Amino acid sequence: MKKKTEIKISRSKIDLFIECPRCFWLEVKHNIKRPEKFSSAHIGSKYDPLLKRIFDEHRKINKKPPELEDLDFELYPDLNKLNIWRKGVEYYHPKHNITYYGKIDDLLITKEKDLVPLDFKTTLSKDFNVYDSYKRELEIYGYFLRKQGEKVLDIGVLYFVRIDINEKFEKIEERKILTIENLNYEIYDEILENLKETYFSEKEPLPNPNCEFCKRDFEIIKLFK
Ligand code: SF4
Repeated sequence: MKKKTEIKISRSKIDLFIECPRCFWLEVKHNIKRPEKFSSAHIGSKYDPLLKRIFDEHRKINKKPPELEDLDFELYPDLNKLNIWRKGVEYYHPKHNITYYGKIDDLLITKEKDLVPLDFKTTLSKDFNVYDSYKRELEIYGYFLRKQGEKVLDIGVLYFVRIDINEKFEKIEERKILTIENLNYEIYDEILENLKETYFSEKEPLPNPNCEFCKRDFEIIKLFK
């Protein structure tokens, strides 16, 4: 289908919308960003290319990385297609005239040819925490793939790398594979409808009452009133 739009909204901005429509509206529509917190995502950006390379080397010899041995899924075999999706699994919504997209890390496949989204996560925490946003990330990739007509399982995989140092200041690296079940692809049609309304609205949405940033700003405004 021919695309008639220059508006492109990424998976992370959809997640921002779910977290707070106001922050989404300010950032995506008006280019006003919330201050950045330090996050392991910065380290992830160094690790992800390496992990993709390791996965692709195994893909070429038709073998799973040893960490995935216990899973019933195989590596998705079509590297050319995967590399396109790594640049963005796109979903052009004709009524919104917006292209939504998400850059998937990797994909697995079942014997029945259902796809299984996989995301690499690098963490400095003591635990392998699975945040709601991690589940949403897998869901949004799966949702976009379904919109492309692919069969996608309601299970996703997180490939964690945990980095730490011990008392001797030696680097420790631990890996863990977690399967995330009950991915829900059904909710995203409605989420994108609401997102589109917010995007095209001139009215500033309300802030998320649990967020410290806006709370602080509103307290400051009250002080100077
Ligand atoms: S409440 Fe937080 S997330 Fe929402 S607009 Fe304010 S800073 Fe952004």
